Amino acid sequence: MGGGTDRSTCRATSQNSAFIIQTLTTDGYTRPVAVPKILLFYVFTPLADPEAIRLWQRELCRSLDLTGRIVLSPHGINATVGGELADVKRYLRTTREYAPFAGVDAKWSEGTGHDFPKLSVKVRDEIVTFGAPDELRVDEQGVVGGGTRLSPDDLHDLMDREQVTFFDGRNEFESRIGRFRDAVVPDVATTREFVAEIESGRYDHLKDEPIVTYCTGGVRCEVLSSLMTSRGFSRVYQLEGGVVRYGERFGDDGVWDGSLYVFDGRGSVDFSDHTAVLGRCVRCGDATKRMQNCSDVQCREQLVVCDACGRGGAVHCDPHRASGVPSQP
Ligand SMILES: [Zn+2]
Ligand SMILES: [Zn+2]
Repeated sequence: MGGGTDRSTCRATSQNSAFIIQTLTTDGYTRPVAVPKILLFYVFTPLADPEAIRLWQRELCRSLDLTGRIVLSPHGINATVGGELADVKRYLRTTREYAPFAGVDAKWSEGTGHDFPKLSVKVRDEIVTFGAPDELRVDEQGVVGGGTRLSPDDLHDLMDREQVTFFDGRNEFESRIGRFRDAVVPDVATTREFVAEIESGRYDHLKDEPIVTYCTGGVRCEVLSSLMTSRGFSRVYQLEGGVVRYGERFGDDGVWDGSLYVFDGRGSVDFSDHTAVLGRCVRCGDATKRMQNCSDVQCREQLVVCDACGRGGAVHCDPHRASGVPSQP
């Protein structure tokens, strides 16, 4: 623990043949400057041997002290990793040396240094679990038959020309603290429920309307937009780079409202100093962006719960509150 760093100076020292930048704090101590970063990316591309890629990626991450979550499938890679800036950069550079991953579209964000408890590198049927691995078609250009890609600026151009409907491609709970203005939010607890939801007829009035799907970083919409297109939605767009990229471009001065839920230690991300607080505490109704698990140990429901109520004891989701009997571990 050092003192303030207001009048600190930075200098580089050579130590163990590596450059370590140190800060001279006001109390005269030096300590390394940690620059924790989070890298988010995905690539849809045919992978003949995902297990070999898994072993390579795992060793690469271990050698660089990265933690996070990487999922591989015959359709590509979906990764969120965190670590020191220099290490994450080296990871990205090495990953791009593999030709199918050369075009990785990297999304960076600030980390805290303890955003992920561990490293998990797995092979699954799908890199995002829609429960439709046999339907998804992927070639060297990516998902076949997906929605038309829109950059954040393209999106605004389209909105200048016509009325679009935002379609939330995330789990319903993620939208409770942030969403696009007037978005349709499907009632899904997991991505696996999307197919039944879009086949339910509930959205058939949108089949010939311009629909813009969005999700955190874009990966879920790659699949969702293709599933919607093949089910007769004729004008499906997808927000390229997801809310992350939109927030970088327009902050809280566009058509996104609130905080972005993220699946790591940060909990959520804000894009400006004037982010609207959309969440309402399930217990007291106060405005908050804080989310926590249902206190039932078996339940994975995420609830909006303010700080005070979170500290004030167990908070249960509706079904578990109604039953009154928490299930056993
Ligand atoms: Zn509360
Ligand atoms: Zn629950």
